[in-house]
Parts: sequence; C-alpha cells; structure tokens
Amino acid sequence: MIKIGILGEFDANAGISQKLQPFKEARIEGAAGHGCGHNLYGTASLAAAIAIKEQIEKGTLKGKVIFYGTPAEETIFAKVWMVREGVFDQLDVCMDWHPGDTNESGTQSTKALVDFRISFNGSSSHASSDPWNGRSAVDAMELYTTGLNYYREHIIPTSRIHYQFEAVGDVVNVVPDYAKIWTRLRGNTVENVNVLYDRALDIAKAAALMTGTTYETKLISGIYEILVVTKPIKEAILRQATTPELKEIALKEGFQTMQDMGRRMIANGELSFREYERVLSN
Ligand SMILES: [Zn+2]
Repeated sequence: MIKIGILGEFDANAGISQKLQPFKEARIEGAAGHGCGHNLYGTASLAAAIAIKEQIEKGTLKGKVIFYGTPAEETIFAKVWMVREGVFDQLDVCMDWHPGDTNESGTQSTKALVDFRISFNGSSSHASSDPWNGRSAVDAMELYTTGLNYYREHIIPTSRIHYQFEAVGDVVNVVPDYAKIWTRLRGNTVENVNVLYDRALDIAKAAALMTGTTYETKLISGIYEILVVTKPIKEAILRQATTPELKEIALKEGFQTMQDMGRRMIANGELSFREYERVLSN
C-alpha cells in the first residue's frame, strides 16, 4: 500500500507580529509572527491531507495518507530530528510546499545551510580606570563579523552569510566579558557550505587570538540541499501522472531507488548495513 506523507509546518519568527494590512503594525506588540506565507502551511497542508483521505474513502485513490505537524522550521529545522528518529521511514512519498505567487511544481532546490552559535569569553574591567586589564568579548565578536564581511567578497555568488548578535555588553563603562552570535551559512550544496563553515570557524579563532579571549562554538542545526526535480518530472506532476508513470520517468532521469542509493552509500562508507536494513524494512 502506498503511504503518502503531508508536512504541515507550524512555526513563527520572534518579533514580527503583524496585522492583516500592507503597512507595518503589530497585532500584538513584540509577539511572534509568520514570515513568507508560513501562516498558510498548517491549515493548507491539513486541508490537502483531508482531501486525499476523502478520495481514499470514496475509492478514487488507493493508499494511506499521514499528516505530520512539523514545528520549528524557522529556527532549528526540527524535521532533521524527525528524520533521524525515523518518523518518515514508513513513507513512499512525502509532500512539502512553500507559499508563492503561482501554482507550480518547483524545479529548484532550496539551499543547504549550517547554523551555529559562537560565544566569546573575555574578562571584564572598568572601561576608564582599568581598561588594560580587560579583554573584550564584544571586540572579538566585532572582529569576527569584520572577518566574515571581508570574506564575503571571495565566496561564490550563490552562497550566503547571515548573522545576528544575541548577547553583547550591557553598559558602556564596563569591558564586556561575554558576547554571543548566531551565524547561518548557505550554499547550493552542502560541499559549498562546508567550505564557508571551515573558514568561519578559522575567523572566530583568529578573532579570539587577536583579542586575548576564548571562544566556543555550538552547532545548532543544518540542512542539505533538496533533491532537484527535473523538468520532465515537474511536467508529469502537473499533468497528474500516476505513481508508476512518475517512477518510470524518475528512473529515466537518473534518479535512484532507495535500495540503489543505500547500496551506493554503503559502498562509500556513508551508511551502515544495519541502518540500510532499518530504513528498508519499514
Ligand atoms: Zn518561507
């Protein structure tokens, strides 16, 4: 029996509460809100799951539909943990979408990315009477972002670097001993991202060295680029091709079955035989 998964995301970003109007005004001051159409995800996905369920009950479609609530997309990409725990292993196909201004089957991958935090630790002192005994964590953070921004010129144009300061000093007359920054690096492939990631960690190390501070890094999350749908597959989806038809086109387009991909990963030492068996036995 074919098992279809539908992802219903529910998430929000801090501080972007907004009334239903085209100019900025918070619905609830300081509260969270939805960015880039994410208010539609949960309800529209649930409606799609119900529509499929009704078709199955009527006998027009065969199979089983499973609706997944997937939280925290905007912050830590909780689906990564759901994948690790095997909650999608039972599926034959899993459908996801993003709000846009046209109805289409996309042929573009989203970017791969890595998210991490760096905290700098220095030592505080009075900024006027004893600055020579201070080691500023904020100086380290500034040098880190300066390094990142000089590096920005030399990254390939499809890559992206974003950051937000999460902790800085509180008052101006104390050398701050703690600073924290959240960085996100994106690239078209995970290989691109790893190049950026290595360099960012070097820049953090250099910033700490320059300021006599120490630093710690903490990986938050990361995602791979997604499997790119080719034009023939996109067209087949839009003309509502059957599953066997889609499978045939996909194989012709060079897509691998899970078995093939698993065998290749075992051969490359990227997957254990046990994990391969676990996934395929579901
Ligand atoms: Zn979005």
